Amino acid sequence: MSAAGIYVHVPFCLTRCGYCDFNAYAGLDHLRPHYARALIAEAEAAAPDWAGEEMVSIFLGGGTPTTLDPLDLTGVLAHLRDRFEVVEDAEATIEANPDTVDREKLEALLAAGFDRLSMGAQSFDRAVLASLERIHSPDSVRTAFKAAREAGYQNVSLDLIYGADGESLESWERTVREAVALALEHVSAYALTIEPATPLGRKIAAGLVPPPDPDLQADMFALACDLFRDAGYRHYEVSNWAKPGYECLHNMGYWERRPYLGLGAGAHSYRDDHRWWNVRPPEEYMTLVGAGRRPTGGEEHLGPSDAFLEEVFLRLRTLEGIPASWVEPERAEPHLQGGLLSEAGGTLVPTERGMLLLNELVLSLTSASTPPVGLLNM
Ligand code: SF4
Repeated sequence: MSAAGIYVHVPFCLTRCGYCDFNAYAGLDHLRPHYARALIAEAEAAAPDWAGEEMVSIFLGGGTPTTLDPLDLTGVLAHLRDRFEVVEDAEATIEANPDTVDREKLEALLAAGFDRLSMGAQSFDRAVLASLERIHSPDSVRTAFKAAREAGYQNVSLDLIYGADGESLESWERTVREAVALALEHVSAYALTIEPATPLGRKIAAGLVPPPDPDLQADMFALACDLFRDAGYRHYEVSNWAKPGYECLHNMGYWERRPYLGLGAGAHSYRDDHRWWNVRPPEEYMTLVGAGRRPTGGEEHLGPSDAFLEEVFLRLRTLEGIPASWVEPERAEPHLQGGLLSEAGGTLVPTERGMLLLNELVLSLTSASTPPVGLLNM
């Protein structure tokens, strides 16, 4: 048994943010109740394959899972606990958009067993939220966070994004300081990346909006590292900080290459160097599941060298690092000297500057010419 996880993808959103390239859709409200039933049917069909696998985490992500009715969310979680070997104290996370929750809904979700809440805040600057085409305001984040505490949530994470058009270092500092002032248990802060097939990517390609400035984003990363460290957060992964003991167990599973089952439209699964994924369009997913078929859209088997490279990439994202014996000493030495790596007890760990330059660092440590497909945007 190997401490596996279950990821459930809910692809519905109130609106679509201009930078988003997730498998997420606005305007499919009519599918929501049927979608919950499809998730349960897919889980039912997958359960025998995962018999004997101890599940230590469940993560409902999206999209915006809290667009579903709380009763449907409760039903999905109860079904997973019933059909899989979910450990008693499993971490159960639900992602939320601040505009889709209130105290009553959060109380219902906590009572159902979702003990960890991850909210998409992105910024406390109204202009930055507008630039990202987020529909919520800074005040709705504050209100939703207060409601979460009043509902009894003791494990709350906020997602932040830095580097949007018009965001200054000062604005980012105010956002980080407000996040710190909330005394969150966990924060994820991501550099805005531009995907060409998104509305924002097209605006940038047309010269209507400037692309993110990498030097400014590097300064923003360094500032976040300093402020979160000073506030007692542990920078346990490139984009994630936690108070001690509040690291996200589910996401750690991805970086540690533990097995996970993905349920829902476009969800990915992984076990024993085998990765497979579901079809992305929600209607197609529901049709396949409704017909009693597996909704698999593709798969890949990793050979030994790809699996090794993936492990190096993923472990170097975290403070876990890699055994020094995995790389030739002459490849590591320049980075130890240059301050991208540190070594303790035979383990190489990236410094914060090394985390910032992770792709270049890993390529230089290994003989790979490009990172493994699918790892660049995790
Ligand atoms: S709320 Fe999240 S998943 Fe939905 S469109 Fe915006 S960024 Fe994408």
